[in-house]
Amino acid sequence: MDLFCHKLPKIELHAHLNGSLSKLTLKQLGCLENSISQYQSVKAIGLKDAFALFKVAHEATSNTKNLYIATQNVIEEFAKDNVVYLELRTTPRSEEGMSEDDYIETVIKAIRENRFDGILVKLILSLDRRRSREEQTETLDRIIRFKNSFPDLIRGVDLSGDPAKGDFFRDIFEKARENGLKTAIHCAEIQNDAEVKNILEFKPDRLGHGTFIHTNPELWALYKQLNIPVECCLTSNVICLTANSYAEHHVQEWIKEKLPFCLATDDKGVFNTSLSEEFLHIHKASKLNELELWTISYKSIEYSFASAEEKNFLRFSLEKWKIKNIKDNE
Ligand SMILES: [Zn+2]
Repeated sequence: MDLFCHKLPKIELHAHLNGSLSKLTLKQLGCLENSISQYQSVKAIGLKDAFALFKVAHEATSNTKNLYIATQNVIEEFAKDNVVYLELRTTPRSEEGMSEDDYIETVIKAIRENRFDGILVKLILSLDRRRSREEQTETLDRIIRFKNSFPDLIRGVDLSGDPAKGDFFRDIFEKARENGLKTAIHCAEIQNDAEVKNILEFKPDRLGHGTFIHTNPELWALYKQLNIPVECCLTSNVICLTANSYAEHHVQEWIKEKLPFCLATDDKGVFNTSLSEEFLHIHKASKLNELELWTISYKSIEYSFASAEEKNFLRFSLEKWKIKNIKDNE
């Protein structure tokens, strides 16, 4: 099954650029050995400590040269893991000698100059929930400007960052939607019923994590009625202790109730995982067979922010792969 999960053409919809940097990339970018080993020996930490770890990657990508290399390496690693469609997300930021515009331009350049075959890459730009309303609005305006120049590449806006801090400003996301951007919002990573209700009522195109929705009957009823795809990041949640184990992960509720979800790595570098491993975890935890794993991948195409044409192409290639690789175990 390891080989099957590796070979399966996969769709990655929730991957943060900086959190996805591998040990090799960090080394290549000049990170010190002891900060890398601290970064990769993570087994179980709280969410707070996980956010502290991102600093290592942020230091590594604090100039355009390193950021370019980092982006290309992440694409290469996903391609080698047989991810055929990748939505990479990142929060534009400025550093000494690098403006927010430089940051976005560099990531775009790295994606456009992608040398790896068989992987289609799109960009989601993130708003950091720790930033003020004014700052988030300013970032959104910047994102809209770039989206208008690169509509094939920049497909959506995300809200991310420490879930214990900051706010979801609905009007900012309304504006994103009005400007043709899709929305993927980190939601219910921690228990925060009032905010979750607010986010659900906005009806984003996708939700990240959705850990504490089914725990509240009112929210759960509302969610099921809306039927919004959730990006499930199993290893991330197990390591950050918001899920007790793979077997007890809330994705079980989604499987049981036939609700829409995809599997995602979140931060494959920080959590030392790959999308193939996430498929293997769900195979073991939920006893899913090859066809059921393939179906998760196939359905994720629908939830993606790809164009209708791109979705058709992806569906066609997955169907072709299925005929070749899955014997009728329906
Ligand atoms: Zn995330």
